[in-house]
Amino acid sequence: AAHVVILGAGHAGGTAAALLRQYGHTGPITLVGAEPLPPYQRPPLSKAWLKGEADADSLALKPLEFYAEHDIDFRPSTRAVEINRGERTVRLSDGAALTYDKLILATGARAIALPIAGADLAGVMFLRTAADAELLKATIGPGKRLAVVGGGYIGLEVAASGRALGAEVVVLEREPRLLARVACETLSTFFRDYHEQHGVTFDLGADVAGFEGQDGRVTGVRLADGRIEPCDAVVVGVGAAPNDEIAAEAGLETARGVVVDLEARTSDLNIFAIGDVAHRPMPIYDRMFRMESVPNALEQAKQVASAITGRPAPAGECPWQWSDQYDLKLQIAGYAFDVDQILVRGDPAAAKFAVFHLKGDQVQSVEAINSPPEFMMGKQLILSRRPVDKARLADPSISMKEVAA
Ligand code: FAD
Repeated sequence: AAHVVILGAGHAGGTAAALLRQYGHTGPITLVGAEPLPPYQRPPLSKAWLKGEADADSLALKPLEFYAEHDIDFRPSTRAVEINRGERTVRLSDGAALTYDKLILATGARAIALPIAGADLAGVMFLRTAADAELLKATIGPGKRLAVVGGGYIGLEVAASGRALGAEVVVLEREPRLLARVACETLSTFFRDYHEQHGVTFDLGADVAGFEGQDGRVTGVRLADGRIEPCDAVVVGVGAAPNDEIAAEAGLETARGVVVDLEARTSDLNIFAIGDVAHRPMPIYDRMFRMESVPNALEQAKQVASAITGRPAPAGECPWQWSDQYDLKLQIAGYAFDVDQILVRGDPAAAKFAVFHLKGDQVQSVEAINSPPEFMMGKQLILSRRPVDKARLADPSISMKEVAA
């Protein structure tokens, strides 16, 4: 039976290994992971885990024994360094070489670093791995001032968790509003107000030029206008870049991510790519792009495990993700491509509302704050592409069930 080699033991790679066994793959499976831990969930690293509400064991996708019990050869702390497609081999950082029949790239993404002075000072941190999260948690607390560079979802979650840990928090964002890349003005304003009520300060339109330090430790963030925001620690949360170099070097087609089809197959028949590293088709939007979310990692793990075990490809899903900040539950379905109208349903002042992004009379995406029905029915509307009556959608006295009927 075929030897499946999986590069990257994150959410996507770990799930693919487990699904291959569940779907009846009997050949050898090797799971190569650069990190020391077996596959774990990253979302809690900025949320419940950081606040101390979840322990380390609860992060693991499966207990360590699972891999041996299911005859999955898990190789922790090992990096794949080169793929030789002609010979179907992968060279590893420990000098070993693996021969594969099918190769799955699940190398994820990494936090983008700022190429500015002082970026290597102690206390200038990222939040991508469990090790990053341990360091951050050990650094912040009462009496500390944390500067968060980047007002995206991860930055805002870190800000909320930082407040919960008793730290002072300032968020520095280059754009004039929060979540500028991903959300509409209503949501940006809502989150800003909500965080301010919880004691977070914001510096919007802030151009971070460097980090100040003393004895090798960060003491402040220097802005282009000359101001300095003093701090004891910094989290840089300015986005992630796909770990697709190993694929590009092997001559696979890449486009800020490894280009795949709906079976997660790359331009090489025997090589697949899934999760944050994949640039994938999304039929409901009739385009291709790269997503960074757990549901996407799970969906693509299903695609690849189905393709390798000869099952029919799974039905397409509506992409979604979530964010928890304070007592707010934000659920997002879809992506706001080609939107010509934004419609707010519910009351932002009551922290219970949903923002629908429409293209004509089709729902492209929805951001739902403490509004599960809007999220659930919105997801169905996005996937079905059914036209929607906008007046009814905007009227919260009409249930979402009726709107979607
Ligand atoms: P990863 O989880 O990044 O795993 C890739 C693994 O491959 C890593 O362990 C990496 O070290 C390893 N690797 C890389 N190169 C090599 C190599 N050459 N050889 C061997 N191993 C290699 N998503 C949501 O849907 N909701 C959320 O609320 C949410 N919150 C998040 C909060 C944080 C702090 C972070 C960091 C992410 C969050 N995400 C969230 C995103 C989600 O975690 C990712 O989409 C998901 O982890 C992607 O899984 P992956 O397996 O593709 O990549």
